Amino acid sequence: MATKKMDDIVSLSKRRGFLFQSSEIYGGFQGFWDYGPMGVELKRNVKEAWWRDMITAHDEFTAPAGAPTSFNMVGVETSIIMNPQVWKCSGHYDLFHDMMVDCKATKKRYRFDQVRGRWATCTYGSADKPSDEKLYITTMAEDPEEGVVAAALGVFGLKKKYADKIEWHGGLTTLDTLSSDDLPNAVAPDVQEPGTFTAPREFNLMFKTIVGALGTDDDAAFLRPETAQGIFVNFKNVCDSSRVKIPFGVAQIGKSFRNEITPRNFTFRSREFEQMEIEFFCHPDSSQEWYSYWRDRRMAWYKDLGLSGDNLILREHHQDELSHYSTGTADVEYAFPFLPAGEYGELEGVAHRGDFDLRSHMEGKLDEKSNPLTLQLDADGNPKHKGSGKDLTYFDDQTRDRFTPHVIEPSAGADRATLAFLCEAYHVDEAPDDKGEMQSRTVLRFHPRLAPIKAAVFPLIKKEGMPEAALDVYRDLKQAGLNVVYSQQGAIGRRYRQQDEIGTPWCITIDGDTATDGAVTVRDRDSLEQVRVPVKEVTAEIQRRLRG
Ligand code: ATP
Repeated sequence: MATKKMDDIVSLSKRRGFLFQSSEIYGGFQGFWDYGPMGVELKRNVKEAWWRDMITAHDEFTAPAGAPTSFNMVGVETSIIMNPQVWKCSGHYDLFHDMMVDCKATKKRYRFDQVRGRWATCTYGSADKPSDEKLYITTMAEDPEEGVVAAALGVFGLKKKYADKIEWHGGLTTLDTLSSDDLPNAVAPDVQEPGTFTAPREFNLMFKTIVGALGTDDDAAFLRPETAQGIFVNFKNVCDSSRVKIPFGVAQIGKSFRNEITPRNFTFRSREFEQMEIEFFCHPDSSQEWYSYWRDRRMAWYKDLGLSGDNLILREHHQDELSHYSTGTADVEYAFPFLPAGEYGELEGVAHRGDFDLRSHMEGKLDEKSNPLTLQLDADGNPKHKGSGKDLTYFDDQTRDRFTPHVIEPSAGADRATLAFLCEAYHVDEAPDDKGEMQSRTVLRFHPRLAPIKAAVFPLIKKEGMPEAALDVYRDLKQAGLNVVYSQQGAIGRRYRQQDEIGTPWCITIDGDTATDGAVTVRDRDSLEQVRVPVKEVTAEIQRRLRG
C-alpha cells in the first residue's frame, strides 16, 4: 500500500542517516529538516548533477542529441536577505500569499486548498446522532479516502461496522471548492460539529525579519521565498562582467524560505528548502522555442537520473491557469508515495515569464492582470512600487537591436528532487544470504551518479593479509576522488545488505584467491552479479561503470 511504503522510507531515512527531524531532541520543529551523513551526500550529488548537466557541461557533454548547445550558462550566488524593494517590485510583497482557514474549536490553521472533504448524510436510526443534514466531512489524513470515513463515523456517532449507513454525495474535493454559503456546513478535522471554520483569509508566506539595531518597522526585511529574484537584479552585472551574449542562462542553487501554513509530507513541503533555478534570457521572437527546449530538457534530466515511467509526468498548464505575461508553464510532477493513487506532486515548474520580471525591476511593479502589462498604481494614481529606474534592456551589437529579454524559468526544488529519487530508489526484493538462501532485502537503487557511496571495499576475513590488500584498493579509489567506504566487521552477507540499504552500487571483496590470482570480486547491487576484476583495474572499472 502506498502509505505503508512511505512509512518504510521515512523510517529507513532516519535509521540509515538520510533525514532527521530538525531539533529532534526538543521535539522537532514543524517544516524544518536535517540531512544526515547519507542524506547530505545524496542531496549534494543531486545538486552537483544539476550544476554540471545544466551549467558547466550543459553543451555537447550533457545536451540531448541534436539540441542547440552554443549558448552560455553561468552561475551566481546571491544573498538570502535583499533590499525589501526587490520583493515589492517582484510582486511577492502584495501577492505571495495562500488562503488559510482557522478552526475555532481546535485553534488549528489550514491551507484552504489542502483540506480534503466529501459531502455525506446519515439517517441511520440507531446512530447516536442521526442526521439528514448534508455535511461536508473533512480530513487531513495522508489517505483521505480512509480519513474521511473515519471522521464521518465520529461525526455521525457510528461504530465502524455501520460505515455503510453513511450516504456519500460525490467524491473527494478540497475545501476551497465550497461556496461561502456551504462553508458553515463543513466539519473541520478532529471536530464533530459543523461551523467551526473561519472564512478564508490571506496569509503572506514570506518570513519577516529585522535588519539593524533599531528594530523599527522601517527595518523590516524578508528571507527570500525564491532564488530567482537574486538573478534578475544582477542581470546587468552578469552581462557587463562575463561578456555573455543572448541567449544565455544564469543559474543559482540556494536556500529559500516560505512560512507554509501546513508543512507536511516529509520534506516535500518545508518552510526552509533549497531551490535550483535557471533564468534563461532570450530574444522575444525565439522565446517560445526556448520554452519548449527547457521544458523537454528538464523532463529528460529526471528520467536520465532514474525517475521512471508512470511515476513522472509533464503537465502543461491550461490557458486559464497562466498569468497574462506567460505564454506557457509546465510542471514536472512525480507520483510521491504519500499521495493518493493517480495524484502527482510538483518537482519543478518551467515557466515562460516574458519580460515581466526585468520590466518590473526597471519601471516598477507591473500589473499582472492587465494585458498589455501596465504599471500598478495606488489609490491616488501613483506607482504603487517604484522600480530601480536602471536600464535592464539588452543591446545586441550584431543586429543593433535593443530589447528587454524574455525569460524562461526552470525552477526546481533540490529537496523535492532528492525525495523523489529516494522514493523511486526504494525497493524490497530478495538476495541470497551467507548460506545461499534467498532472504528479503531492502535496497535503494539509486542511479550511480546519485548514490551517496560509490563502492564499499571488504576483506572477506580479518586475516591472511586480506585487510591490507583491501585497504590498498580502498586508498586507490579514494585517491581517484570517489566516495568509498571500507568495512571488515561482520559476515560478508550482512555487509552487502548494509550497503544495499544505503544504495551503494558496487561492493568489492578481497578474498583468499586474491593473493594468487591478483583479482577481486565486484558485486553489482541490482543484478547481484559477481565478476572477478584484476586489482590493478578496479579503480578504472568503477570509474567506467560510473560513466555508464
Ligand atoms: P507548490 O504549488 O507545491 O507550493 P510552487 O508552485 O509554489 O509549489 P514554485 O514557486 O514554482 O513552487 O517553486 C519552485 C520549486 O521549488 C517547486 O517546484 C518545488 O520543487 C520547490 N518548492 C516550492 N515550495 C517548496 C516547499 N515549501 N518545500 C520544498 N520545496 C518547495
